[in-house]
Amino acid sequence: MSSLIINPFKLILRMKKVSFLLLAIAALVMSCDDSNENVLPQQDVSTAQEIDMSNFYLVTDDEELSRTTSSKNSSKNCSSMEVLNRQLKENPGLYNKMYNAELHTRNHTAKGKPDKPGGGGSGGGDTDVDVAIVADNLGVINIPVYVHIVYPDANSISNAQVTSQMNVLNSDFSSTNVDQLPTGTTFENDATDAGFSFSLAGTFRHDNSTSSWGTNDAVKTAYPPITPETHMNIWVCNIGGGILGYAQFPGTKTPATDGIVLGGDYFGVTSGVYGAGRTATHEVGHYLNLRHIWGDGRCRQDDFVADTPTAGSSNGGCPTFPSSSCKSADMTMNYMDYTYDACMYMFTDGQRNRMRAIFTSGGARESML
Ligand SMILES: [Zn+2]
Repeated sequence: MSSLIINPFKLILRMKKVSFLLLAIAALVMSCDDSNENVLPQQDVSTAQEIDMSNFYLVTDDEELSRTTSSKNSSKNCSSMEVLNRQLKENPGLYNKMYNAELHTRNHTAKGKPDKPGGGGSGGGDTDVDVAIVADNLGVINIPVYVHIVYPDANSISNAQVTSQMNVLNSDFSSTNVDQLPTGTTFENDATDAGFSFSLAGTFRHDNSTSSWGTNDAVKTAYPPITPETHMNIWVCNIGGGILGYAQFPGTKTPATDGIVLGGDYFGVTSGVYGAGRTATHEVGHYLNLRHIWGDGRCRQDDFVADTPTAGSSNGGCPTFPSSSCKSADMTMNYMDYTYDACMYMFTDGQRNRMRAIFTSGGARESML
C-alpha cells in the first residue's frame, strides 16, 4: 500500500522521537490490519509520555482512502488535517509546540474525564459515556471576527450572507440552533452549550481574479490576517479542488496563517446540502482544537474526546440512525463529522471542555480573552 497523501511513518521518522516512533509503528501495525476493530480503554492522560502523537497524523493509505470515499463518505471535503500535516512536515519545530499545547489541553480536560471507563474517544465501545463539564470561570467566550472576501467581484458575497454566517455560529456554539437531536437516538441528551459567541469586527472586500486559491495559505499571504492574536480571521474565496474549507489548529504559534478559509458557496446561509453555514461551524471547531469525530483514521485513531464514540471513518449524507462502526453507533450528527448541514446538530460536553481549555491560563488562545 502506498501513501497517497501523507505517510505518518515517514513524517514521524523526521521527528527523531524514538518513543513516538514506537507508538506510531504500533498504531500503523494496528491500522493496517483490517480485521482490527478492537476498541481500547480510554487513556487517562496525565503525563506527557502518554500522549500518542501518532494521532496527529492522517492514516491515508490506498485502502483507507478507498474505504472512506466509497462506503460511507460523501463529497464533503475539509483539508484542515492535510494542512496540519503539511505544516508539521515543513516545520519540525512545530511538533514540540503542538505537543505542549496538547499537554495543556489534556491536563485541563482530564478534570472532566468519563464517569465510567471504557468509552469514548480512544475507546468507543460504550456509546453513552458522560463527561463532566470542567468549570473554568470564563463565562461565554466572545470571539471577534474579521471577514476577508476575496473574489473577482468581492461584492458577490453580501453583508446579509456574512450576517447569516455569524448567526449560525452564534446559535450552533450556544446550542440554540432550532434543529436539535431527534428523540430515540443514543445521543439525544448529549448536545451541549459550548459557551462561545461571535461578533463581527469588520468585513474587508478584495477584488481578485484568482480562480483557485488552493490550501497552501496563498490567500492569507495575499491578504494577511488582522491581529490574529485577538481576532479570528475568515477568508472567503474559491479554494478549488472540491475543498469546502480548512482551518489552522491552535498551538502552532504561526499567526501569519492563523484563521479559517471557506468557499463562498459554503459561507453563510446559501443553498444546497452544505448551504446552512455549518462548514464554518466545523472549521471553527478545528480552529478551537477539535478533531474530526472519526479521528482521521480507523477505530484505533482518536479524536481526543471521551464522550464521542470511536468511528471507523467519516459519515456523509444524512444517515439513518444508527450508522455504526467500531461496534457502536457513530455520532453522525456531530458538527465534526462530514454529514450534510441539515443533519448535524451538536457538540458534546467533552468537545466543549477541549475547546475552552485553550482559553484557560497558558492555553493556546488565551490571548484572545
Ligand atoms: Zn474538518
